[in-house]
Amino acid sequence: MLSFDVRSLEDQAATVDGELSATDPIWTEGDMLPESAVHATGRLSLAGPGRYYWSGAIEGTATVPCRRCLTDTTVKVSEDVHVLYAEAGDEIDDPEVYVLPPRARTIDLSPAVREQWLLAVPRFPVCREDCKGLCPTCGAELNAGACSCPPAVDARWAELRTARGTDN
Ligand SMILES: [Zn+2]
Ligand SMILES: [Zn+2]
Repeated sequence: MLSFDVRSLEDQAATVDGELSATDPIWTEGDMLPESAVHATGRLSLAGPGRYYWSGAIEGTATVPCRRCLTDTTVKVSEDVHVLYAEAGDEIDDPEVYVLPPRARTIDLSPAVREQWLLAVPRFPVCREDCKGLCPTCGAELNAGACSCPPAVDARWAELRTARGTDN
């Protein structure tokens, strides 16, 4: 359950403990989906008139290609989240703030869970720290053994690519 009754929050904070399933219709094409579900936890509390604050964490696993050898790599994602909801009409210029429609009856955390998840999933993981990646010349997977390309050239390219950092 990621949906909360706003009026109950006026009296007391709610415990957040729910899951956003990988098959939830909120995901859109191209999203990095979780393996099964994103688990959301924490507290949702009143933070002023018409304002609510979710402080907690999201957790899940994703399968992302290794940035060096492109092998599917399972990564655990665990991230603290701090999300503010505010009713429309206030002067809100902070993009981190989720705007609620006036007199909203419920707060659904699902859109925030999705966005926080997408921000938290590492886009360029490595399958292991010493992954040798692919030969930039012939494309051979170097974890399986050296290819027959001249090693000096390969090494320099590899260093250059690592130095740039992004590798995309
Ligand atoms: Zn790798
Ligand atoms: Zn090669």
